[in-house]
Amino acid sequence: MKKADFQATKKKPDIELNKPAGRKYWQKQGNFAFWYFVIMLVLFYFFQQGIQVKKEEIPYSQFQQYLSENKVSECIIRDKLIEGTLKLKDRKTGKPMHFVTVRLSDANLANVLEKHGVKYSVEIENHFFTNLLFTWIIPFGIIFLLWGFLSKRVATSGMNFLNVGRNRAHIHADSQPSVTFKDVAGVDEPKQELEEVVEFLRSPDYFQRLGGRMPKGILLVGPPGTGKTLLARAISGEAGVPFFSISGSDFIEIFAGVGAARVRDLFDQARAKAPCIIFIDELDAVGRQRGGPIGIGGHDEREQTLNQLLVEMDGFDSSKGVVVLAATNRPDVLDKALLRPGRFDRQIVVDKPDMKGRLEILKIHTRGLKMAPDVDLEVIAKRTPGFVGADLANIANEAAILAARNKRDSVTQSDFEAAIDRVIAGPEKKTTAMGPEEKHRVAYHESGHTLVAELVPTGEPVHKVSIIPRGSGALGYTLQLPEREKFMATRNELLDQIAILLGGRASEEIIFGDVSTGAQNDLERASDIARNMICSYGMSEKLGPLTFGKRQASLFLGTEYSEEKNYSEETARQIDEEVRDIIESSYSRVLGLLKENRSVLDALARELEDKEILSGEEVKSIIERERKQ
Ligand code: ADP
Ligand code: ZN
Ligand code: MG
Repeated sequence: MKKADFQATKKKPDIELNKPAGRKYWQKQGNFAFWYFVIMLVLFYFFQQGIQVKKEEIPYSQFQQYLSENKVSECIIRDKLIEGTLKLKDRKTGKPMHFVTVRLSDANLANVLEKHGVKYSVEIENHFFTNLLFTWIIPFGIIFLLWGFLSKRVATSGMNFLNVGRNRAHIHADSQPSVTFKDVAGVDEPKQELEEVVEFLRSPDYFQRLGGRMPKGILLVGPPGTGKTLLARAISGEAGVPFFSISGSDFIEIFAGVGAARVRDLFDQARAKAPCIIFIDELDAVGRQRGGPIGIGGHDEREQTLNQLLVEMDGFDSSKGVVVLAATNRPDVLDKALLRPGRFDRQIVVDKPDMKGRLEILKIHTRGLKMAPDVDLEVIAKRTPGFVGADLANIANEAAILAARNKRDSVTQSDFEAAIDRVIAGPEKKTTAMGPEEKHRVAYHESGHTLVAELVPTGEPVHKVSIIPRGSGALGYTLQLPEREKFMATRNELLDQIAILLGGRASEEIIFGDVSTGAQNDLERASDIARNMICSYGMSEKLGPLTFGKRQASLFLGTEYSEEKNYSEETARQIDEEVRDIIESSYSRVLGLLKENRSVLDALARELEDKEILSGEEVKSIIERERKQ
C-alpha cells in the first residue's frame, strides 16, 4: 500500500559488459586452448580414417583357405597381424580386396607362402613413437589439461596461485570505438568535462604548449546505474588511445602483496603505452578508509594495495599523457588521501538524469526497437522520476520482452507501462491473489490516497492507481505524475504531501472503523516529512526558522545518515510535539475531506476493486461523474 517509491532503484549488475557491442574488448578470454585441443583430436581422427584403406578382418582359418586356393597375391607379416591383398576384386569398386587377420605363431608360414607364390615381407614395428605417445605425451597432456582446468577454477574462486601478480586489466587499443559519447545521454555536464580530457589525450602536445596541465586523476561519482562505467568506455572509444580497465575488486587477493604488485604492474604497462587511460571501476573496493575496524584477514592487504596506488599516482607525470579515471558510488567511504591534490583531484558528479535526460536515454535504448505509433517516450520519461540510465535501459528491454511474449510485432505503449511497473515493483504477482476482504480494504486505502491527491490544492495529478499486488510486498500503489520536475517545495506543498500519504489510512478508518498494518510505510514517510519540516526547513511556527540536529547524509545514499544531536532534551520534546501536531492536524483535515466526498470515495473504490487498475483519466471521470450527481 505504499506509493511507488522512486528512490528505490535497483542496482543492476553491469549487464552492459555482456552486450555484443562491447564484447570485443570486455569479454573474458574464452577457453581457447581446450577447444583447440579438441579440434585437433577430431581432425587427427578423420585424417587417420582417411588414409587407411578399407580392410576386411578375416579369421585365420579363412586366410589359410585363401592361401590354399591361391587367392592371396601379397602380404605383410607384422608383429601381431598379417595384412595383405587378395587376387579377388571388390565387387563394388573393382579394386583388389585387402584383408587383415590375427597372426598365429606358425613357424611354417614362410614355406607355405612361398609354396603358393605369395609376395611377402616381414615388418618389425618400431614402437618408439607409440611408446612415446602412450607413456609420455598422453599422460602429460592430461595432467596439463587438468592443471589448466583446476587453476581456472581456483582463479575464479579468488585463490589464483598460478597467476600471482599477473595483471587482469583488460586492455583495448582499438581505433574503432564500441561506445561513444553518443551512447550516453542525460549527463551533459560530466560529458562536457570528459570531452576536454579526450581532447587532451588526442593532442597532449598542443595542450602543454598552452601551459595546460592535465589532472592526473578524475573521479566519477554518482549513484549506481547512472552511466559512470559507460562514460569511461565512451572516453576510451573517443580518445582512440589504449585503455586499461580494471575493477577495484580485482586488486583484492587472498595473498598479501598481490594487489600491490598488480597496481605496480598496471602502472608500468600504462607508462609504456602512454598516452593512455587507466580506468579503475568501483574504486571504493580498494580505496576505503584505512585503519578502520580490523576485519578478519584481507585488511592489511587492501591497505597495501591502496598505499601502492597512492605511490604510483604520485610517481608519474601527467604530462606524459596517462590519465587515471576512476568511478565509485561511495565517495564518502574513500580514503581522504586519494582525494588530495595530485591524485583524484578532479571529481565529476554523474547524477540521476532529469526528465529531458531520461527522454534522451530512452531514445538511445529504444533505437533498435520496433515501436508502435502509439508509443510516447515523453510520457514514460515523465513517469519515471528518479530512474537512472540502467533502469531505463531495463525498461526498454522489458518492454521488448513483453511485446515478444504477447506475440506483437511492435512494442506498444502498454508494454512500456507494464515494464515500468515491473521495474518499480518487481514482476506482477498474479498467483497470490488477495482475498476479497483484503482487496476491498486495499481498494479503499488506495482510493483514499487518490482522492486526497485530487482534492488538495497542490497535489500532483494521479497517473495510475493499482491494487495488483507486487513482488516487493506492496499491495497496491497510487502513482502521481508530476507536471514538471520539482526542485523545492513550499510548506503548503509538504502539508499536502503529508495529507496524501495519510489518505489511505484515513479512508480505512472511515469505512471499516479500524486501521490495518498496510499504512506503515505511508505513516513513516509522513512523519519523515513532518520532522524535516521542523528540523531541517525551519517551518515550525513555535520553534521558529531554526534547524535542529546536524544530519550527515552520505552523499548519495540519502537513507543512511547519522544525526548529531545539538539541542536540548526540552527542544527534543517540543520537536516531537510539533511533529505530532502536524500529523494530527493533517489527519483530521484528511478525514474531513474524505467524509465530505464519501460518495466519490465509494465510487472510486468500487471501480478500483472491479478493474484493479485505474488510469488518471478514469479517476478524473469518476470524480466528475460523482460530483455532478
Ligand atoms: P554505473 O557504472 O554508473 O553504475 P553503468 O555505466 O554500468 O552505471 O550503466 C549501466 C547501463 O545502464 C549502461 O550500460 C547503459 O546501458 C545504461 N545507462 C546508464 N546510464 C546511461 C546514460 N546516461 N545513457 C545511456 N545509457 C545509460
Ligand atoms: Zn498507502
Ligand atoms: Mg559501474
